[in-house]
Amino acid sequence: MVPGSGEPELALPPAQALEAWLSSLQQSCRLEAERGFGDLMGRHETFASFVTRNLDSPPPDLTPDAVRTLALLATAFRRYRLEDLGRRQMLVRQLRQGLHQVRVQSRPELPAAPPRLRLLSSPGEGAAGGDPSQRGRGSSLPPSSPYATPSPSGGTTERASRPLLAGTPLAEVPGIGPRTATQLAGLGLLLVGDLIAHYPRDYLDYANLVRISALVPGRTATVVATVRRCHAFSSPRNPNLSILELHLQDSTGRLRVSRFFAGRRFSSPGWLKAQQRQFPPGTTVAVSGLVKESPYGPSFSDPLLEVLESTGSPVRSPLIGRLVPVYGLTEGLRADTLRRAIQAVLPDLDRWSDPLPEALRQRLALLPRQRALQGIHQPTDQADLQASRRRLVFDEFLLLQLGLAQRRQKLRQRPALVLDPPPGGADLVGRLRTILPFPLTGAQDRVLAEIRHDLARPQPMARLLQGDVGSGKTVVALAALLCAIEAGCQGALMAPTEVLAEQHLAKLAHWLPQLHVSCALLTGSTPARRRRELLQDLINGQLQILVGTHALLEDPVQFARLGLVVVDEQHRFGVRQRNRLMAKGLQPHLLTMTATPIPRTLALSIHGDLDVSQIDELPPGRTPIRTRLLRSGERQEAWELVREQVALGQRAYVVLPLVEESEKLDLRSAVEVHRHLAEEVFLDLRVGLLHGRLSSEAKQAAIGAFARGESQVLVSTTVVEVGVDVPEASVMVIEHAERFGLAQLHQLRGRVGRGAAASHCLLLHGGNNADARQRLEVLVRSTDGFEIAEMDLRLRGPGQVLGTRQSGLPDLALASLTDDGDLLEQARALAQELVAADPDLVAHPGLSQALLDQRQRQLEAARLN
Ligand code: ADP
Ligand code: MG
Repeated sequence: MVPGSGEPELALPPAQALEAWLSSLQQSCRLEAERGFGDLMGRHETFASFVTRNLDSPPPDLTPDAVRTLALLATAFRRYRLEDLGRRQMLVRQLRQGLHQVRVQSRPELPAAPPRLRLLSSPGEGAAGGDPSQRGRGSSLPPSSPYATPSPSGGTTERASRPLLAGTPLAEVPGIGPRTATQLAGLGLLLVGDLIAHYPRDYLDYANLVRISALVPGRTATVVATVRRCHAFSSPRNPNLSILELHLQDSTGRLRVSRFFAGRRFSSPGWLKAQQRQFPPGTTVAVSGLVKESPYGPSFSDPLLEVLESTGSPVRSPLIGRLVPVYGLTEGLRADTLRRAIQAVLPDLDRWSDPLPEALRQRLALLPRQRALQGIHQPTDQADLQASRRRLVFDEFLLLQLGLAQRRQKLRQRPALVLDPPPGGADLVGRLRTILPFPLTGAQDRVLAEIRHDLARPQPMARLLQGDVGSGKTVVALAALLCAIEAGCQGALMAPTEVLAEQHLAKLAHWLPQLHVSCALLTGSTPARRRRELLQDLINGQLQILVGTHALLEDPVQFARLGLVVVDEQHRFGVRQRNRLMAKGLQPHLLTMTATPIPRTLALSIHGDLDVSQIDELPPGRTPIRTRLLRSGERQEAWELVREQVALGQRAYVVLPLVEESEKLDLRSAVEVHRHLAEEVFLDLRVGLLHGRLSSEAKQAAIGAFARGESQVLVSTTVVEVGVDVPEASVMVIEHAERFGLAQLHQLRGRVGRGAAASHCLLLHGGNNADARQRLEVLVRSTDGFEIAEMDLRLRGPGQVLGTRQSGLPDLALASLTDDGDLLEQARALAQELVAADPDLVAHPGLSQALLDQRQRQLEAARLN
């Protein structure tokens, strides 16, 4: 099995169990790497504990070498939490390599490199050795993707034997040796498809070569020059910073280039030496980046650097006029190794087929997919690169939108109750209008009409209602529920937290009795007896509106005739919950509401199966909120403002961040801040405390006291984020504002400014991070939730904006939700057209297979998440 191991061959473990075990670990590595090595919190455990648990119980019958490797890894991963970013990256890389070794070892037909995984090796060391002469092409996996299907008109190539498919293991590719395969595995690249999908991070543009004498500060340029001298040293001032300094020249002048490496591991003498060895005098290098002014004339700082040849001869001609890809690498893999590996598979792509039919492709003026894949790795020029990228981005969006369009189609195929109130009936909505103390805004009226139109159709509504904080969604929801009641059905209103559910009930209880409509609250903390009564009333139809939390999904809740479900704060109510509702056999109309406006691109990407309505107008009479940034040191100012406002009869929130992973820690900080304010700052005021760990009654009591003015300051975690409505509150102080996303801050800020008094939002921040400050400035400038959300997306990216736990975030490698909006719209239009004509995409096997693959990946990810 393993050459030279001398062990008798053991029976192979059941291949499938091993495969599942390996792929779940590999998948978790991928997620962890994508999410920045933060020890991702899954549903049940963290990444590191998932890994150690799995490594501790490997599938049976592994080779002794594999067992040893896994044991070493398990030991290393117990310390993962304590490691810094660099070590974590390295551990994940080593785990990936280790898993690759185990997979190779378990397939005897694949001669493997002797596993020499060096745990915690010093930077720069290769992770594994191997005899490059050993090469095997054993059985290849069945094609797992349509992108892998050789086209029927495959043509003849010199490599007439086995075509490389997306599912072919890299170890079986001629031109990729076992050693390289192991290194690639460290990047999570196991199959040909993985390698092809490892897109360049950037390109060196040799088409725009500039002489040193012609460099202009402020411009981006590429220079090809010869190394005169090279130094790598750690900074005398900062032991954690290492500097690589190159002195270069060409026939027109001299140039100094520096690169900086932050992190202790870069200051080891071995690593510094290795850097220096890469650039001996006489080496030809290409340097590409932003030209800066320096005391020594123009210079580059932190440019892309590329050794062209080690001989010092002039630039090889193939590079001139070329865009050379630059890949994201980890240490231990050289750029040219990766480039060579990719070169080894690119020609085979000619034989792959395009899942998009020719006619459609032409209509959209897109390159064939095979060409685009070649072009992204080996563009002939900028135009080729852009065209290639366009096609690949389109494909990413298309798959996403096809999946959503199919969901939408399925949703709509189910029969739904027609909720069309009979003419001459009780006209509950009309009567609601007469008892409301205000007229509906134009936007509320319009949205309500859209909803009523949907409810009157025999397909279930699936509508997302977006509206900024305070825009008045609750009343619209209530009116929609009344339509259902009037049509003889029941309704449910679900909120993400008990606090919010209780608030909703309080509001409904204010109006519904006058309309003779019954409502009740069901949450996780409803006493058993009350719950039994409720469920009884629900099933016999006496109870018309049920308000609750997710408990509505988890409980054996049975309605007599459920017509409409309203889900408040959809942002926190993922696709998974929606699915669960449908899995309960319920096909009610569904209205989801969110005050966390998300940009259209993102909305289309995650809620593309929903219709979207928007309340784009605030009720009149709101005074704008004044927002200010304060350094933590200026906290006294905040407390003074609180005092002033309280003296005027107003109230104040003090909000602390709650980071899910360290709930306990934050809890302590809320309790601590509460004590500090109550005992040291506001001795004359009543200071309340609200956090997620309080019992339901205690929460209600804290909010109630604050709402009635018995307490004037409420210290809270982000539980107040959604929904809490106390019009007298006019100050919102947010501690550690830099830890929140902009959209969330906007949402929090929306808790004040609900009455007529001028309101204030004070954002306290650490103060020494310019980026964070700049981000927070957006809130000072803008009160438009959509604009803020758009900025948030730009500044933090979709993963952050939606939070790590949000499921259903698309898996986009190239596409940008901020810049590729037009392609997204085109892909969406095509997806809807295709699915409308052919819901199961029978006529497009390539696309339907790609969808299956994607779904499989998402399922695996969801298992871990
Ligand atoms: P959100 O959209 O954030 O859920 P709410 O439904 O909680 O907003 O409404 C915020 C406040 O505005 C509530 O006090 C509500 O009674 C009030 N409100 C809603 N609609 C109107 C309106 N058309 N005119 C005046 N006030 C309104
Ligand atoms: Mg609300």
